[in-house]
Amino acid sequence: MFNSLSDRLTATFKNLRGKGRLTEADVDATVREIRRALLDADVAVPVVREFTGRVRERALGAEVSAALNPSQQIVKIVNEELVEILGGETRRIRLAKNGPTIIMLAGLQGAGKTTLAGKLSKWLKAQGHSPLLVACDLQRPNAVTQLQVVGQRANVPVFAPHPGATSQELEHPAGDPIAVARAGVEEARQKLHDVVIVDTAGRLGVDADMMEQARQIRRAIVPNEVLFVIDSMIGQDAVNTALAFDEGVNFTGIVLSKLDGDARGGAALSVSSVTGKPVMFASTGEGLDDFELFHPDRMASRILD
Ligand code: GDP
Repeated sequence: MFNSLSDRLTATFKNLRGKGRLTEADVDATVREIRRALLDADVAVPVVREFTGRVRERALGAEVSAALNPSQQIVKIVNEELVEILGGETRRIRLAKNGPTIIMLAGLQGAGKTTLAGKLSKWLKAQGHSPLLVACDLQRPNAVTQLQVVGQRANVPVFAPHPGATSQELEHPAGDPIAVARAGVEEARQKLHDVVIVDTAGRLGVDADMMEQARQIRRAIVPNEVLFVIDSMIGQDAVNTALAFDEGVNFTGIVLSKLDGDARGGAALSVSSVTGKPVMFASTGEGLDDFELFHPDRMASRILD
């Protein structure tokens, strides 16, 4: 994902090797290169501005360290600032103290929510949890079936209105995602599942009706975590999409999906910074195991490797 950015940054730092002391002109030239590399990787302009401003300030103010040469010093600063824009510390799921931990997924259609529901439930199950998946994406014709397939592969039960079900057949009116979400959480309580993952509907673009539905689901089930899933390949649109979802559902964490793609990675580097919310997971492929807890420090080191 970050290959090109990584190569550019490494080349920039190489130019500093062998220098005894950095002049202001050296720092400025380096910061300029970093700025270009980030912009070419599609990182959002305000994020680039803030990032390079901080790197410049710290590089100029850096005390001469006996242990690090100037090039190592800049790498260290860039590394620390990258960790910062990626959300700082590793953030784990906050588990509910009583009753099931409720995790709601939100994001555009195609972002990777349903796939993530499978991955996350399998991962939680491997840690001894007993998750239940709830299908509240009643917009897309195949979404419920897709979640059922994913649930089967992960060996995790799925609570869903079956196609054509009438409201008498079900304890919740079929076709009403808010009622399905509520009933799903109730089912988890009764069957003693300790985690509920609620998949919601997305649209191809940010849409007022979709956001209102997501907001109502959030209000109805009071989730412990609302994970905003974003396709890392969407480039410059990422920031506006993330801001719209943050305003709409006030998400608590970010999942970067499709990090295995060859896009330039700017989305990944921008969304946490502009929303102030942590990246919690990375989705790295179509398989159920292509998924990991996101560690900002490891990701920064990978970029600067
Ligand atoms: P949803 O509409 O948000 O529920 O998105 P889906 O989970 O249906 O995913 C949309 C498409 O992206 C599907 O074809 C998935 O197989 C694919 N997909 C999801 N996550 C990843 C990922 O991490 N990497 C890759 N390469 N494909 C993914």
